[in-house]
Amino acid sequence: MIKTGEQHLKALQDGRAVFLRGKQIEDVTTHPAYRKAVQTSASLYDFQARPENVDALTFVSPGSGNRVNRCWQLSESYEQLVSRRNALEAWAECHYGFLGRSPDHVASGLAGMVMGLEYFDQWNHTRASALMDYFSYARDNDLYLSYVIINPQANRSKSAGEQDNTLLTARLVDEDSEGITVHGAKMLGTSSIMSNEVWVTTIHPLKENEAPYAISFVIPMCQKGLKVLSRKSYEEAAISEFDNPLSCRFDENDAILFFDNVKVPWERVFIAGDVEMCAQQFHRTPSHVHQNYQCQIRLKVKMRFLLGVAHKIAETNGIIDFPSVREMLGQLASDAAVIESLITTMEVKGQKVGKYFVPDTHILYAAQVQTQQLYPKVIATLRELAGGGMIMLPSSVEDFTNPEVAKYIESTQGSPIYSPEDRVKFFKLAWDAVGSEFASRHVQYEMFYSGASFIVKGNSYRTFDWAPATDLVERMMESYSLEGSLDKLK
Ligand SMILES: Cc1cc2nc3c(=O)[nH]c(=O)nc-3n(C[C@H](O)[C@H](O)[C@H](O)COP(=O)(O)OP(=O)(O)OC[C@H]3O[C@@H](n4cnc5c(N)ncnc54)[C@H](O)[C@@H]3O)c2cc1C
Repeated sequence: MIKTGEQHLKALQDGRAVFLRGKQIEDVTTHPAYRKAVQTSASLYDFQARPENVDALTFVSPGSGNRVNRCWQLSESYEQLVSRRNALEAWAECHYGFLGRSPDHVASGLAGMVMGLEYFDQWNHTRASALMDYFSYARDNDLYLSYVIINPQANRSKSAGEQDNTLLTARLVDEDSEGITVHGAKMLGTSSIMSNEVWVTTIHPLKENEAPYAISFVIPMCQKGLKVLSRKSYEEAAISEFDNPLSCRFDENDAILFFDNVKVPWERVFIAGDVEMCAQQFHRTPSHVHQNYQCQIRLKVKMRFLLGVAHKIAETNGIIDFPSVREMLGQLASDAAVIESLITTMEVKGQKVGKYFVPDTHILYAAQVQTQQLYPKVIATLRELAGGGMIMLPSSVEDFTNPEVAKYIESTQGSPIYSPEDRVKFFKLAWDAVGSEFASRHVQYEMFYSGASFIVKGNSYRTFDWAPATDLVERMMESYSLEGSLDKLK
């Protein structure tokens, strides 16, 4: 009884309203803009259901008794946290770290929220019960959740309620005995085209009079009134799998979600109209830490892949033995080790929250600050290593079908380690990781997925224990004085 890929695909044929190039998509599982990414998401469930992976990737749900992915597991010890991390890492290896919002991301956030249920319960017992019941439902059905927690940009010098268009940002417009009605937009629903349900809330601070924007709820992607306004599909723009192997398989998509008077039953509402609680749900519970810990685990895998690409570039172009090239590779290896070490440290320094064991908050934020800056630098190093190699390539796989062009490919694509065909294959892959539109979106993703840098650095500032640092300065200052120095002049 483990969720399979086939079950996931079937669940996505639910009539969800996804719009692309002016048209509503009938079925995301078959449409050329999404079908391969959707297939990738389904393959994650097949992977966990393989007999050799069942123990490592799944655990028995305390609710249903069925096995579900370990992303739903609430770790109670360091050992459990590490085995859960190993499961997340194995899943990330299936997509080489290129699915930012794989199913374990939002599940980790929701699991963290439930670890802090006591805080929720002190605030409102009914809403805390709704959260717990929903968590059990999502876990027992091994749901793929996406989320939208950011308000549309519009004018960032104004808050949600101050925008010229007060119906721009998703907000409460009505409530009755059955539930709430929400209208307006949210950004940015990564993976929403292939998730089962979406968690909608606000992480931005709100002002006291902005209660209608203080919402937190989950709805199925096929909920009446929910419109998914998809960005351009890189999967659809890919020439072929040979030309764009990553865009083809891992374009998780991003979308603006518009809630057109969407009705949400109370049992799916966690917060409705409480500004303080909306702001605190992520930080007074381990939710934010737990979801972003997943991001670091995923990034560790992606970095390993990128380091492999860097090494292969150097070998392919015969530059691997140049000292300056080894220096660049050494820098990359050190960068990857920093991420890995920070993950280890946040686990070793983990803390108990009630009966649960969660990664260290400040080390997590420190890792985010570092990696947000690191990723574009790593990509720049790969470009530096490759020179024109990723550009000096046949226009498409079709060039191989023309014997005359194929002859020229054969004579121009030489490499010390690869046949001409494999050199082309490799550099097409490298470009898709480093320079294609898909790759460029990944730079933007790693720079912004958990907030602009001033937000991430603000979290680091807020959670650092400054006293030992300032105490050292005070101790030093106390070790000398003006009087003492003046005395020495006498
Ligand atoms: C590829 C991608 C995928 C994403 N996926 C998701 C997702 O699945 N779910 C989700 O909810 N969100 C998602 N996001 C949204 C992400 O969370 C936001 O991009 C992020 O929170 C930053 O907000 P913003 O884009 O509105 O940037 P802004 O807040 O507008 O910041 C942009 C820049 O403006 C400046 N700036 C803005 N405000 C200030 C200020 N107050 N003080 C100083 N400078 C300021 C800074 O220079 C900042 O870097 C995704 C984003 C990207 C790029």
